[in-house]
Amino acid sequence: MSGVVVIGAGQAAASFAVKFRSLNQTTAVTIVGDEPFLPYQRPPLSKKYATRDMSRDQLLLRPENWYGDNDVILRRGVSVSAVNRDSKTIKLDDGNEMEWDKLVFATGSRPRRLPETLAKGLGGIHYLRSLEDADAFGDELLEGRNVLIVGGGYIGLEAAAVCAVRGMNVTLVEASERILQRVACKETSDWFRALHEKHGVVFKEGVGLDDLSGEDGRVSQATLSDGTVLNVDFVLVGIGIVPNAELAKAAGLEVDGGIVVDAFCQTRDKDIFAAGDCAAFFQGGELTRIESVPNAIDQATAVAINMNSEPVPYEAKPWFWSDQYDVKLQIAGLNRGYDRVVVRQGNTSNTVSHLYYKGEELLAVDAMNEPRVYMVSKRLLEAGKSISVEQAMDHEFDLKSLL
Ligand code: FAD
Ligand code: NAP
Repeated sequence: MSGVVVIGAGQAAASFAVKFRSLNQTTAVTIVGDEPFLPYQRPPLSKKYATRDMSRDQLLLRPENWYGDNDVILRRGVSVSAVNRDSKTIKLDDGNEMEWDKLVFATGSRPRRLPETLAKGLGGIHYLRSLEDADAFGDELLEGRNVLIVGGGYIGLEAAAVCAVRGMNVTLVEASERILQRVACKETSDWFRALHEKHGVVFKEGVGLDDLSGEDGRVSQATLSDGTVLNVDFVLVGIGIVPNAELAKAAGLEVDGGIVVDAFCQTRDKDIFAAGDCAAFFQGGELTRIESVPNAIDQATAVAINMNSEPVPYEAKPWFWSDQYDVKLQIAGLNRGYDRVVVRQGNTSNTVSHLYYKGEELLAVDAMNEPRVYMVSKRLLEAGKSISVEQAMDHEFDLKSLL
């Protein structure tokens, strides 16, 4: 019994297993994951789970009995250490080997870490990727404490919101010119900076972290590149991720900022697929990796379909969300290559949308507390339609009429 083996037991792995079983009840499916847990969702780790407003059980993508009931073998707490494409086997770090007919890389990504010259093995320096990371971060959330957040991406901003709401003194240092620079326009960065500043978060943009020092093995002071010295109770680092692609590279598969797959989520080896954070695919002619739950679900679903029927190309229809304070940011589309941003003001000061254009073509939308604008834009983008700049600017214009 070899069947399909999935490396990694996260979002993409679980989504693959669910879809695969709905299409095929006979082929063996085995998921091998290095974490000790059942597959779980990560988004709440920087939101409700960190604040203990959500339980571990609520994080689970499927209850434990689902795997047995659906004949999906889940090997937890075991790492795949090598893939042999000639013998069609994988090696596990518990010494065992496993055979496969088809293999799926769903290995995700890991946080980029501070260099050891900065971290110096000090305690109190946190990352947010796993459930254990979130438990450790949650333990630090005590009113009145001083936290330094390194990185002004989604992790940094969501963690800043959680800390600020807890009544902590939050400083966020971002090495780039502005927060969210990698993912959003200046207008969106400015909007979120203002939101956080209202909650007391102090921003240091275009500023690096020069040094950390500690007492009794735990971080207690940070020196920034602008000369600021901060007393800190702990540090939360969210400076991006690195795709887990080394195993694929060692197996001779093409890796270029991720495991390279074609339109069918297939590597150059026709029996090996990749999905989720670890997979790099061509979108608009450019190699792209999308780090999001919807992408992990959609790619994994495409892999399951392509293993069972006439292959259909995967077309990414990106959407994202982020929760910070009482704001829901919803993003539809990919803004790559935009040359203009249209601001569409909502009915209150807390509601606005930023629409990205390349010439006359709508590429993407950041909607802040504007679920309707988000929904309509998403459907239009998916249908290959646009909203004219005039219509976008006119907040009286009913965008729904374009559907
Ligand atoms: P993962 O979920 O990371 O799963 C990969 C698994 O493979 C991991 O368990 C890993 O340990 C395991 N693995 C790796 N190598 C091996 C090996 N050799 N052997 C065995 N197992 C291995 N996205 C959104 O869309 N919205 C959000 O609001 C959002 N919030 C987030 C908040 C946080 C704190 C984090 C960390 C991420 C968030 N994301 C969010 C991103 C989203 O969670 C990821 O894009 C998604 O989990 C990717 O799924 P994946 O299956 O590719 O990877
Ligand atoms: P990210 O979005 O890539 O943001 C990291 C930020 O840190 C970037 O702005 C980066 O700037 C900056 N940075 C890099 N090195 C730095 C340094 N030494 N000092 C200060 N700043 C530095 O990644 P992330 O926020 O760490 O999130 C990790 C993953 O979780 C991503 O996949 C993200 O999509 C996912 N996630 C998603 C959500 C969501 O969708 N709501 C929420 C949480 C997490 P440069 O761009 O200039 O390098």
